This record gives sequence, structure tokens and C-alpha cells, in this order.
Amino acid sequence: MQFASRVKTITPSSTLQITAKANALKAEGLNVISLGAGEPDFNTPQAIIDAAFRAAESGKTKYTPTAGIPELKKAIVEKLRHDQGLSYHEKNIIITNGAKHALYLIFQAILNPGDEVIIPAPYWVSYPEQVKLADGVPVIIETSEDHDFKITPKQLEAAIHRRTKAVIINSPSNPTGMIYTEDELRAIGRLCQRHGIIVISDEIYEKLVYHGEHAPSIVEVMPEIKDQTIIVNGFSKSHAMTGWRIGYAAADEALIQAMTKVASHSTSNPASVSQYAALEAYTGSKDSVTVMRQAFEERLDKAYERLSKIPGLRCVKPKGAFYFFVHAKDAAINNGFNSVTEWAQALLEEAHVAVIPGEGFGAPDYIRLSYATSLDQILEALDRIEAFIRKHQK
Ligand code: PMP
Ligand code: GLU
Repeated sequence: MQFASRVKTITPSSTLQITAKANALKAEGLNVISLGAGEPDFNTPQAIIDAAFRAAESGKTKYTPTAGIPELKKAIVEKLRHDQGLSYHEKNIIITNGAKHALYLIFQAILNPGDEVIIPAPYWVSYPEQVKLADGVPVIIETSEDHDFKITPKQLEAAIHRRTKAVIINSPSNPTGMIYTEDELRAIGRLCQRHGIIVISDEIYEKLVYHGEHAPSIVEVMPEIKDQTIIVNGFSKSHAMTGWRIGYAAADEALIQAMTKVASHSTSNPASVSQYAALEAYTGSKDSVTVMRQAFEERLDKAYERLSKIPGLRCVKPKGAFYFFVHAKDAAINNGFNSVTEWAQALLEEAHVAVIPGEGFGAPDYIRLSYATSLDQILEALDRIEAFIRKHQK
């Protein structure tokens, strides 16, 4: 069978692929520690599970409106107002099958063939592939550790030209954990305003910030660009709800309608009971979100301290999300491997530690380690990584 060329131009999600491989090895009985998964290890808070049960039992098992149930839209509007000081209406919201689906719908709705989307690297693996799936062209801006992996206005300006349609800002960032400051966002916002470029603000790690950091939304600091900005957020990370598949976008009404049209012919509504679960997440107690955030902060500090002692690895301390983005090229070369990807492969096979090679994030000299797993497991994994590096030292 011959497949469509659109499929040939994209690669599978490396984050999901490696997580699946690690799980398969575990199922074979191997003592594999996965620092691959980009999902909280916590179970979904009980009150949220209970709300889903109640919804199912009371017959909330039918199709809902494609863009989601009005109660959840209302709760999202209230959350945006209360937490971020943003003013949206229910007609500005679409609820989707995870934030990933919101992003997918955005590109389907805004891109014509050949339209360009600016993506700062390191980027989350799905951005360029989703742009390509919508016949768009990803334009990658390289960043460096010296600038905390953030783009400068100068770099952005140089990347903008006739076909530029949008830019993606992901703060806190997957994979680097960096956060854009208000001034940085304002400078980016001003450029986008001047050039009429859509800003896609992926705020999924908004709640996972540490040591008093705050991750402002670009709309908070630059209200003038609200109409050309799309906020993407979801429940997967903040509420340990990856499997429930609920995310959302907030944007101009016409764009929400365009996205809803695409969803109406592809997925219909997101799962009904999951929407009721998400409703509880936003209207019920916030305590569990705080407890999980604190656990991530403790792991960040303890694991970072241990990680900093491993020869050949170097990492800028993250301010948000739950990943370390670690420069591993020196270790890989010293250990006699041609690439970090090969080194990571050997690490999984020999030391039974799964990490995600930076290649899929547009930064091949790096690896991503997730600390969304217990501290014991993380420290044990770091011990194994150090032993692996020392064993292969040339
Ligand atoms: N954006 C970023 C930056 C992510 O890391 C993820 C993680 N999966 C998503 C979006 C999508 O999350 P989900 O589809 O589970 O809501
Ligand atoms: N976003 C998470 C990650 O980066 C989950 C997997 C995925 O959807 O890519 O690992």
C-alpha cells in the first residue's frame, strides 16, 4: 500500500515512542527506570475521579456540543479571569481532546500551503510535525544555553517574512523548563503586532513553576495583541489528567468557530465524562495541584544537585515544567558514541534508563530527563547514568 506523502514527511512522536519502549521492556520484567514520560506520576485527584463517576452514572454519556459543555467553558473563562486577569467569553473557548488536539486544530484552521510558523528550538516534538500536517512550513529559530534557550526579538525579526503566519511561544517550556519574563514577552508581542503575526501561546505548564517564579501569559503583558493570540492550555500536567484527554484554546470567536468546524468532522466532542472531570478540576479544591507542584519542586532541587555532579553532563536549572534538558554531547563522545541518540539507546539497553534524545526537540546534543517520577527512582536513574558514563570512559 502507498501512503500519502504527508505521512512520509513526519516522524513519530519520540516522546511517546520511547515511553512505550520503556514500558514494553518493563513488561518483559526488566528493571527499567523511565525518565522519558512527560506525564505526572501521580494519580488523578480522587475528587476529579468521583466527579467523572457521578457524570457517567447520571447519564452524561452522550455527545456534547463539539466545542464542549457550557459549564466547563464557563469554568475556563473564570479560571482565565481569576488566575491570569484575562477577559474572555464562552464563545472564545473550544474544549479539545488534549492540548495537542487544540494545537492541531489551530494549524488546520490558520495555515494555507506554504505558510510559515516560527518555532523556537528546542521545541516540543509535535509542533513542527503538526505544522507539516497542515501543509505549513516550520521555520526553526535556534537558541542557546547562554540565553536560557529563549529567542531574542532580533532573532524573531530576522525570521519574519512575507509568508510568516504565526509564532509559537511555550513558557514554561518543554523541554527546557525556561520561562519568558514580562519584558521579553512584551518585546515579542510588539513585533508580532507590528507584523500582524498570530501568537500561539502554549501555557500547559503554567501551574508548574518553582521557587516563586510566575509564568505570565503574553496576553497578560500585551493586551493589545489579544485578538491575534491563541492561548492553549489543558489539564494533563496541572491535574495529572493525561489519559482523560482534555485541553482547550482561548481565542478570537471566528477562529474558535473555524477550529470547531474541523473538530466537528474529525473528533466531534471530547469525551463527555472527561469534560465533567475537568469541570471538577477547575471548580473544586486546588489543594492537590499545590501538593503535586511542591513534590515536583523538591525533586527538582534534589535531582538537580545530584545531576550537577555527573561528569560530562551540564544543565541550566529549570524554572518550570518537569524536565531537565541536559547537554550530553561531551559524555557521548567521551564514551565512544557517534551521537547522543546512540548513547541514549545504549543507556536504555545496558543501564535500563530511558531518556529522550534531544534530536526530536531540534537539539541533538542534549537529552531530556523527566522528573515526573518518584525521587528514589530519579536518584537511582542518575546513579546508573553516572556509572554508565564512567564505565564507558575512554
Ligand atoms: N504542549 C506541550 C508543550 C506539551 O508538553 C504537551 C504534553 N503532552 C502538550 C502540549 C499536550 O498535552 P495534552 O495533549 O496531554 O493536553
Ligand atoms: N508532552 C509530553 C512529553 O513531551 C507527553 C508525550 C507527548 O504527548 O509528546 O513527553
